[in-house]
Amino acid sequence: MKLKKNIKIILGLLIIIIGIFSIFIFIPKENKEVKSNQKTNKSNKDPFLIECKKIDYCKEEDKERYQKYQEKNKDLSLEEVITYVNLNLDYSFYTQTKETPALNKDYILVNKYLYLGSNYIPENLESIPIEYSRSGMKLVATANKKFVEMASQAKKDGFPIIAMSSYRSYDYQVNLYNRYAAADGVEAADTYSARAGFSEHQTGLCVDIYDGKIPYTSFEESNSFNWMKDNAYKYGFILRFPKGKENITGYQYESWHYRYVGEEIASYIQKNNITFDEYYVRFIEPKL
Ligand SMILES: [Zn+2]
Repeated sequence: MKLKKNIKIILGLLIIIIGIFSIFIFIPKENKEVKSNQKTNKSNKDPFLIECKKIDYCKEEDKERYQKYQEKNKDLSLEEVITYVNLNLDYSFYTQTKETPALNKDYILVNKYLYLGSNYIPENLESIPIEYSRSGMKLVATANKKFVEMASQAKKDGFPIIAMSSYRSYDYQVNLYNRYAAADGVEAADTYSARAGFSEHQTGLCVDIYDGKIPYTSFEESNSFNWMKDNAYKYGFILRFPKGKENITGYQYESWHYRYVGEEIASYIQKNNITFDEYYVRFIEPKL
């Protein structure tokens, strides 16, 4: 009898313990579900977020920045607002900076928010053949191959292009920028020269060109410029700092500065008349 009574007590205790455990296991889960449902319902009903989330690269957590920027720039579409805020254009240039990801990729972005470390030297740098370049100029192999193809076709067509600046090391850029800043002041220098680490030339994927006759700063006036306008994208090159896009790129229009991004990206940019910065936040950053 006593044994049976003990077994009953033990069984009873077991049932109570199992009961308590199930409460701990199941209840919080239910609560979690309720909470996440509440959150989804909240964003489902927010008219701003409903519109925002129709755009692939909308970041829900940046809702307030989007709204603030939209308030200040009423002429912009929602797509532009999201693009510009994702680029950090709601902050001043050279603030909110971070090291750029996608090192050694054709689609790497370097601008006034995304920089390269002082030790960064791109892989596979090669010399540009002297036929199409001043001496000592280098580009990353993939970009160099396409540059040579492009320059050789341009030459055949009668519109020569010569590289006069391409890969520049971090230290070279330090000296260059400091010289400009000393001559013109920091504010003016910032509109046409990059601070060290923030120069696209350090990627080894861009090139400043001229036609071999008139100075590179007047490249726009050459026939070679018109040839580049129609053909550069076919070789994966884009005009990186176009006219009228200074507020996005942070640089004055540069008719001589071309960036290699690959044929697919270059074609899209040519067709849609957007900057590489915009392309990057719309199509590249979300996949990184
Ligand atoms: Zn340049």
